[in-house]
Amino acid sequence: MDPSSPPFQGWRACDACGDRPLQTAAEGVLTVSADLIEERRAALRARQETAARGEPVDDDPPGLAPWDWGHRECFPGRTPEYLIDGDHMDTLAKLMARTLELFDADWFLETAWEDAVRRFYAIPIE
Ligand SMILES: [Zn+2]
Repeated sequence: MDPSSPPFQGWRACDACGDRPLQTAAEGVLTVSADLIEERRAALRARQETAARGEPVDDDPPGLAPWDWGHRECFPGRTPEYLIDGDHMDTLAKLMARTLELFDADWFLETAWEDAVRRFYAIPIE
């Protein structure tokens, strides 16, 4: 454990099964659904098309795609592009390294990354 990092917290509960606590962070993955990202994009396109026709857009814009945490086997079908191994984010320095890598992905800013980071680390709000 890196003593200069705030503690990695909130990782024992699996979002998918909920009833089997993770024993080590390495058992877990942080993952986002490519399907939800696609659904979000489709909803945004539909809103733009509605507006382009001059019709009122009265529904709320879609939110950012949430990240899920839990046992790797609890998220079948999630591809490596959308997975971060638990032991690759168990210090703030590692999570920052993953963040910088993720900026290269064209879908990253469509995900609720801030929520994911704040779940695991107490980051001061300034
Ligand atoms: Zn699980």
